[in-house]
Amino acid sequence: MAGRGASFLLAAALLAPGVARAVEVVRISVLASAAEVEVSGAGLSVESLRDGAEPQAVPGGRARVRLEGEQLSIDGRPADGAGLLFTARGSIRVAGRDLSGEVEVRRAPGGLSVIDVLPLEEYVAAVVGGEMPPSFPPEALKAQAVAARTFAVGKKLEARDQALDFDLGSTVLDQVYPGAGRADPRARAAAAATAGEILVKDRRPIEAYFHSTCGGRTERGADALGRDLPYLPSVTCDRCQGSSSYRWTLRLPAAELGRLAGLPGDATRFAVVRATSTGRAARILVEGKGGKVVLDGVDFRRRLGYDRLPSLAFTVKATKGAFELNGKGRGHGAGMCQWGAAGWAKAGQGHAAILARYYPGAELIRLY
Ligand SMILES: [Zn+2]
Repeated sequence: MAGRGASFLLAAALLAPGVARAVEVVRISVLASAAEVEVSGAGLSVESLRDGAEPQAVPGGRARVRLEGEQLSIDGRPADGAGLLFTARGSIRVAGRDLSGEVEVRRAPGGLSVIDVLPLEEYVAAVVGGEMPPSFPPEALKAQAVAARTFAVGKKLEARDQALDFDLGSTVLDQVYPGAGRADPRARAAAAATAGEILVKDRRPIEAYFHSTCGGRTERGADALGRDLPYLPSVTCDRCQGSSSYRWTLRLPAAELGRLAGLPGDATRFAVVRATSTGRAARILVEGKGGKVVLDGVDFRRRLGYDRLPSLAFTVKATKGAFELNGKGRGHGAGMCQWGAAGWAKAGQGHAAILARYYPGAELIRLY
């Protein structure tokens, strides 16, 4: 509870006028547990992460950092301190990504970790480009920018409470961050048009979850993610028909389903035995000659693969040697429906109205 209290005070301070500068930089973990990292960029410089270090130009704009045992080295020469800080004139390339701002390569328990330290607004532009097609209408991109920024600020507050080296990861577990070096101009425009805007509830950033396509109605946060939050109820969307996942069909072979459930042979019965209030599968029964297994819906989707089973909103029909699933939507279903946001934007709604629809009761504020 102490952590919670501290985090609330920090949020209150952050949300007070004029004290928001602290959130203007984010630290993104882009790589962990590496034995070797290559860093390159035009005008690349490096300095040790210890006090009083002076930056040195890197010949050829390319450096190889290695960790052998406890010893950090750069291009074969031992380096002191806990890590190295790289800067460049433009973007810095690491592990196939063009990163903005500064890049830290740190010695961590499992190997080298790479952290991109960049302005929050550049991060938001990159995430918008990574999470939503830049061809979506501007107001949908703006709604996505606010959701991404809100998520980042919330994570930053959490990271401070836990004294972590970084604020966010760079994968779907947090938000997809492809590197800010090549963010689409339309994504940049959406970030710039909403600079500093976040969603709050009781003066804290909300958990602004989003997903591709709800299929008609969003899911309660409690049912989709175990997050029972007042601003994540199920709401009517009715605007995501443009998505190719609005309706889908999947054929699941009985043998595969049996294996998935850990049964010795083919599945002979597959049924949703409990549904959520929006009709998504909460408990799933798989029966075979060897017995029967009841699986949690969310766990079932994880086991089958999030891409293979687009959502938990489906009906089942037994066919010869297989089960046919007819479903709707893609993703966990909680919070903003991205294709729905595009649909409402096309219908003339602004980003504030779109956000108010999917996160009812949350307040849109401007931090700076
Ligand atoms: Zn929708």
